[in-house]
Amino acid sequence: MGENLNLFTSTQHVIKDALGKLGYQDEMYELLKEPVRLLTVRIPVRMDDGSIRVFTGYRAQHNDAVGPTKGGVRFHPDVDEEEVKALSMWMSLKCGIVDLPYGGGKGGIVCDPRTMSFAELERLSRGYVRAISQIVGPTKDIPAPDVYTNSQIMAWMMDEYSRLRENDSPGFITGKPLVLGGSQGREKATAQGVTICIEEAAKRRGINIEGARVVIQGFGNAGSFLAKFMHDAGAKVIAISDAHAALHDPKGLDIDYLLDRRDSFGTVTTLFENTISNKELLELDCDILVPAAVSNQITADNANNIKASIVVEAANGPTTVEATRILSDRGILLVPDVLASAGGVTVSYFEWVQNNQGYYWTEDEVNEKLHKKLVAAFNTVYETAENRRVNMRLAAYMVGARKMAEASRFRGWV
Ligand code: NAD
Repeated sequence: MGENLNLFTSTQHVIKDALGKLGYQDEMYELLKEPVRLLTVRIPVRMDDGSIRVFTGYRAQHNDAVGPTKGGVRFHPDVDEEEVKALSMWMSLKCGIVDLPYGGGKGGIVCDPRTMSFAELERLSRGYVRAISQIVGPTKDIPAPDVYTNSQIMAWMMDEYSRLRENDSPGFITGKPLVLGGSQGREKATAQGVTICIEEAAKRRGINIEGARVVIQGFGNAGSFLAKFMHDAGAKVIAISDAHAALHDPKGLDIDYLLDRRDSFGTVTTLFENTISNKELLELDCDILVPAAVSNQITADNANNIKASIVVEAANGPTTVEATRILSDRGILLVPDVLASAGGVTVSYFEWVQNNQGYYWTEDEVNEKLHKKLVAAFNTVYETAENRRVNMRLAAYMVGARKMAEASRFRGWV
């Protein structure tokens, strides 16, 4: 609870700083400091044993000046209002940074999907769509997968929405199975985006990816695909971790073997004996460090011990505001989450475009377009940081907030 409140208030602080640097008056901060809309719903679900459980769900829409809002739906016991609000603001920033015609949204349901049956999850997913149907839609707010939701859940949600509206609506939601209008390349998109940011950051620091020593925290969707991309590009992935422990080999780990052995929750270290802790992993001597697991990992307590030259945030919120300052003072190049992890929403946007036009692209076409968008976004943020003499996080917030602020101004809202 407290941690989510921190994420929310620190996001507000950075938005305030960014708007101040851009020269906007306080009214603009008043508009952007909270979502414009937050719906709380109660969803009754018949459980398999015949009883009824009532779940709480949320949908936050941060700012819809640029276009419809967009963002995932999370199924997790720790979901609360603050978390959904903060995540919707990050989505607005990401969409602004990669220049998508969207504002940010986010949804969540307080539940533990690991303890629910397939049928219960289907009824919950459909109930959520019925409860929020008035405020969502292909031109209003487009959901997507997030923590503990997947393409099957997106398929049920799309089906429920299409039934309610009495027409097929693939553009209502992204992250769908390919056969229902999903996009090629969606599954690996976040790791692709992180890889592109690593390549760009490495160029700026004169680091050759071939032979570079890479450390990755987390071996789930983002971390494991990233390890594979780095390994294939000739880098030496010297450490990876999961929630239990970390594996370290200065000569480079056998990534294909680890990918083969990891389970569906991204766990692999339990198969090994000579492990180190996640704390030790973060402080290893390396060229590139990628936190790709959970928030609040690099803090004022360990920021001075980080030895990487480049830190690229694949996870949401892995570095605190204070630690960002320490890393930046120490000359470490930090590529912030709102830029580095924007590959997922970018390919979600491509999925929506393909649904709207009814014409589908190959994986190569998707990757080429993703590459162009991310390289352009990286350059814009990097140049803003250089020209305005600010760190990459503040620069990214400036780029993201500027687009929302401009659109709000042209509409006459502020
Ligand atoms: P995931 O659930 O697939 O994998 C998470 C990994 O982190 C697993 O290996 C797990 O064991 C590990 N982990 C969990 N708790 C940990 C802890 N306390 N310390 C160390 N490791 C721990 O999740 P994912 O989809 O790979 O997402 C990882 C991060 O990237 C999250 O912060 C997520 O918000 C962010 N992200 C993901 C996407 C995406 O498309 N997958 C997009 C944007 C941002």
